[in-house]
Amino acid sequence: MAISELTISVEQCKDSAVNRVDWDNLPFGRVFTDHMFLMEYADGHWQDPKIMPFQDIPMHPAMSAIHYGQSIFEGLKAYKHEDGRLSIFRPDMNAKRFNESAIRMCMPEVPEALFVECIRKLVSIDSSWVPNKPGYSLYIRPFMFATDAWVGIKPSETYKFMILLSPVGNYYAEPVRVKIESYYTRAAQGGVGRAKAAGNYGASLYPAKQAQDHNFHQLVWTDAKEHKYIEESGTMNIVFQINDTLITPSEEQDTILRGITKRSIIELASSWGIAVEERKVSVEEVIQALRDGTMQDAFGAGTAATLAQIDIIGYKEEVFKLPAMEKRTLSNRIKEHLDALKIGKVEDTFGWNYFV
Ligand SMILES: *Cc1c(COP(=O)(O)O)cnc(C)c1O
Repeated sequence: MAISELTISVEQCKDSAVNRVDWDNLPFGRVFTDHMFLMEYADGHWQDPKIMPFQDIPMHPAMSAIHYGQSIFEGLKAYKHEDGRLSIFRPDMNAKRFNESAIRMCMPEVPEALFVECIRKLVSIDSSWVPNKPGYSLYIRPFMFATDAWVGIKPSETYKFMILLSPVGNYYAEPVRVKIESYYTRAAQGGVGRAKAAGNYGASLYPAKQAQDHNFHQLVWTDAKEHKYIEESGTMNIVFQINDTLITPSEEQDTILRGITKRSIIELASSWGIAVEERKVSVEEVIQALRDGTMQDAFGAGTAATLAQIDIIGYKEEVFKLPAMEKRTLSNRIKEHLDALKIGKVEDTFGWNYFV
C-alpha cells in the first residue's frame, strides 16, 4: 500500500481531561492532551496510522531503542490566533530535519507530507487544548524509536512513530546564566550532533548538572577538539550581537543542530537589513567583545523559548554581565515580531504559518 493511500484511523477518547487542566500552573511538558498518534513500521513500510486515546505503550524488555538508542525526536508548536484559527510553525522544516536524523540513525524516513498531515490531524482533534493565553502554545513532540525485540546490535527492522501534544506556557521566564564549557563535549565532528537523536540529550545531562551546581542555567558548548569555538547553548542555538551584527556559528559542521528558530531569526533580521554572519565564532572573540563592551546581546534560539536572552556568561573563573534587557532593542524586536507572527498579529510575509 502506498503512503498516499494510508488513512489515519481515529479512536476518540471517552472522557476529555481538558476541563481539568490548571492553566495557571502548567509545568513544561508534563500535561498531555486526550489523544496521541501512533504508526508502526514493519515489513519495509509504514502501516496502520492511528489516533487513539493517550495511553501507555506495551514494550518488550529487549526493545532495541532502550538498549542501543535508535531513537529520534522533533519539537514544534501550534498556536491559537485571535480569530480562533490554529497554526503550526514551519512543520515542513521539522519533517525534513526528522528525516535527516532518521538517515543518520539508520531508521526509516517518514514521507514529509505524511509527517505534516499526522500532526495536522492530531492537533485538529485536540484543538480545544491549544491555549489562547499570551505566551502559551501547544508543544508537539513527534518521535520514532526502534522496536525489534532481541539483543543484537544492528539497525532494527521495526519502529514506532508517535506524536504527543502538550500545552505549555513560557519556557524561560528569566534571562539565562550560561557557562562556556571547556572540558565536556556535546558533539564531535563525524558524530550525531546534527541529529535530534535521543542519546545526545542523555549525554548532556551530567555536564549541564555540573554547571547548574555552580548557579548557571545551562552550558555553552564548544568544539570537541580544542574547546576554542562556540557551538550551541544548552539545547538551543546561540546568536551574538556584536557591533550591530548578528553573529552565529555556521551549521556547516555536523556538530550543530540546524535550528528552525535560528533560521527564522536570521531570515527575519536579514529582511530588516540587519547584518548577519554565519561563521566560526571563537571563544576568544566572544570574551574580547564582553571585555571591551562591544557585546550588545547574546541569546539562545529554539522552539521551546523562541528567544532566550543571556544575562551572564561565565568562562573559566570569570563571569561577565551583559547589557540590561531594555537595551536589547534588536532581540526584543525579533522576539516580539516572531511571537506576534505566530499568532497572526503581524502579517506572515514569509508564509511560515501552516493552518490546521
Ligand atoms: C532542537 C534543538 C535546537 C533548536 O531547534 P529549533 O528547531 O529552533 O527548535 C537547537 N539545538 C539543539 C541541540 C536542539 O536539540
